[in-house]
Amino acid sequence: MCGHAKGHAILSRRRSPYRILAVCLLIGYLLASMVYVWAFAIMVTRVHPHFRAVDLLAPRANDVVIFTFFLVVGASVGSFLNVVVWRLPQRLNVNGHSFCPRCRNQLRARDNVPIFGWLWLSGRCRDCRLPISSRYPIVETLVGITFALVGATELTRWSLPYLGDSVRTNWLSTPYVDVDLLTLIFYHLVALATGWAAGLIRFDGNTLPPRLTLFAAVTLIGGMFALPQAMVVPWQLVGDSNPSEGGFWPPSGWPTHGGDWSVTLVQIGMRLLTSLVAAGFFARVLAKSFCPMADMKMDPLGSSTRRLIDLMILIAVPAIVVGWQAVMGVILIAAIFAKILEMCAFAQSRDSLGRFAVSLPVAMSVQLLLWRGLVASHLWPSEQASQVGLIVSFFGVLTIPLWLDENGESRAPMGDEDENGGISDHFDEDVREAQASGNDSNALQQGDSFELN
Ligand SMILES: [Zn+2]
Repeated sequence: MCGHAKGHAILSRRRSPYRILAVCLLIGYLLASMVYVWAFAIMVTRVHPHFRAVDLLAPRANDVVIFTFFLVVGASVGSFLNVVVWRLPQRLNVNGHSFCPRCRNQLRARDNVPIFGWLWLSGRCRDCRLPISSRYPIVETLVGITFALVGATELTRWSLPYLGDSVRTNWLSTPYVDVDLLTLIFYHLVALATGWAAGLIRFDGNTLPPRLTLFAAVTLIGGMFALPQAMVVPWQLVGDSNPSEGGFWPPSGWPTHGGDWSVTLVQIGMRLLTSLVAAGFFARVLAKSFCPMADMKMDPLGSSTRRLIDLMILIAVPAIVVGWQAVMGVILIAAIFAKILEMCAFAQSRDSLGRFAVSLPVAMSVQLLLWRGLVASHLWPSEQASQVGLIVSFFGVLTIPLWLDENGESRAPMGDEDENGGISDHFDEDVREAQASGNDSNALQQGDSFELN
């Protein structure tokens, strides 16, 4: 085994295709940004000849800066989530440096740069050339993109219902940003990060750690009391009668703007109650797909019941954020993503609940990204949806168990009751040694690569 390790270390570093990819990605992003800025400006001058293209460049460059900012924030959060998803189910501290499971060397700061750190090292440890799981850059990229799409469209007031109409934008304007908007974006991004963490932990076949559930409850439920504006939409149905601007929602202004707390508290209570009841109900419906053996009363401690509880928590996150109406749409999108994942080779070894769980944050991003347009359609489930739209989406969710993998539970590969958090097979000698000597060093070999500790 030692000779094997040395062989890796001696390997000369050839010019790797990953490094070329890293450079190409950077150049490609810069080029795409320039094309966006110029093409947008030229397009607008074609339609509105009274604009000068030169004047339109700055606001569009502004868009690129905003998008890039949220992309970098998201990729960094994704980098942190990789650690959370790996360490929390093992009850390890999420603080502390990452180190290689074989040579025990800590990662340098430059190797921790999201996406590019992994690419620059060609997915191998700097010191002993041990392969590092490609999941690291993939998760960083996915979280980065969802953060960028949601953050940029909310900051420019393009996607939020009820919150965009106060500002009349034109092609020259820069976004109007205030504290309310920033805190709301923060709330949504925390929810999105929580959704990603929970989804990825379930994707690995681990049960949701209590610490994560507590974090979700405190930030999402507590956050709504601290920031009533986080109730972007009301809990009621207002039909497709299109409420007049400002008259109906928010009820009588937010308390932070001189409104009435007693009215708002009732709204928050009803909003949370309906969201959580919906999460419980839809989790029961989907249990036919993901945990048919679940039984709260007869088998409260069984692994199948544990899957049902996790499913409720997973659905509760988007339900609290978008309300009980739109969560039906989120569930439908997630089920479609899960169906697509079922056909992808890398996800086939995972269980059906894991595929659905990791699809939920993507579906929530789609909902947040298109929220205003979806509400305006009156067909998508929302507080303004027509009765037909609501009934169709409700029955749409009820049909999911008919077309989504029904026996995923029987071939769950990692085991739900594994006390070590899914560390069961594929052990390498080095890891056993490391585990025996170190106190907090567990490692799981995924295919040909290692998770960092
Ligand atoms: Zn190493």
